[in-house]
Amino acid sequence: MKCRICGEKASVNMREHKLALCKEHYLEWVPAQAERSIKKYGLFTHDEKILVAVSGGKDSLSLWDILQRLAYHVEGLYICLGIDEGIRYSTESQRLAEKFASEHNLKLNVVDIQQEYGATLPQITRGTHRGRSKPCSVCGLVKRHVMNRFARDLGFDVLATGHNLDDEAAVLFGNTLSWSGEYMLRQGPVLTGGSGLVRKVKPLCRLYEREMLAYALLRGIEYIYEECPYSIGSTSIYYKELLNRLENNRPGAKLTFYLSFLEARKTGLFTEREKIQAELHLCSGCGQPTSAPGLCSFCRLMERLNPPPVRECGI
Ligand code: SF4
Ligand code: ZN
Ligand code: ZN
Repeated sequence: MKCRICGEKASVNMREHKLALCKEHYLEWVPAQAERSIKKYGLFTHDEKILVAVSGGKDSLSLWDILQRLAYHVEGLYICLGIDEGIRYSTESQRLAEKFASEHNLKLNVVDIQQEYGATLPQITRGTHRGRSKPCSVCGLVKRHVMNRFARDLGFDVLATGHNLDDEAAVLFGNTLSWSGEYMLRQGPVLTGGSGLVRKVKPLCRLYEREMLAYALLRGIEYIYEECPYSIGSTSIYYKELLNRLENNRPGAKLTFYLSFLEARKTGLFTEREKIQAELHLCSGCGQPTSAPGLCSFCRLMERLNPPPVRECGI
């Protein structure tokens, strides 16, 4: 297989695009694809301050790498969740995020949730869900809250995450199975900001997971290979496996599924009721956006973890 541009030996063959490229041209092609999404969906400009949520994994570190190569004004945010039972996942992923930042002379901000909120993620889950459920729903809630608060308080214009096409297609697949219009309306390359919500963007949403893996490997980015121990057996991994089987038989199916959804969404696919449900309100506790009036899920979670003291009534 030869590189379509220079005719040298190809390093990456993308059946989904009928395109093979050598290392040099592949490492140019990926940032060009990200830039295309940034422009097409109006994600951000060179004048804006961007905060990249960095987990220490291949996607977020590659996104940070790509944005700094494209000369955007970007800083990283690592949220230490304290997932350290067994493989010391948090300690190792933080070490790799810090290593990447120092090698590229980039600024990494760190929020340790144990220091901020008095408990690690496993402790919050045990304290609020009586050990019943996996921490992933709590984790998503905590990360969304911390990322938005940090970006808002420190004056960032945009919050960028490393979600790739496989992530987006799996979420869309799950929402489609239950036809969750409210969630589908909030899914996309950009979630507009305003009223306390910092604009959230996904510049890698058109790039396949294996394309991002190839990018990280060819760029020599050292990332955490181990998955988070709580990801084992998750629904999203199951959906990804199903979609991979589809993709194997029909290269490009995932991209078509996602892009067709974005097109269909523009044409009044959803009811007025779903549109109203998708609107955000402000939490009466922390002032951050929430899907229903009153306290947001994060504030309710923290109330369960630290119930307010019972006052003496004095009688
Ligand atoms: Fe959080 Fe679950 Fe992802 Fe682990 S797998 S980082 S607990 S969302
Ligand atoms: Zn080439
Ligand atoms: Zn709140």
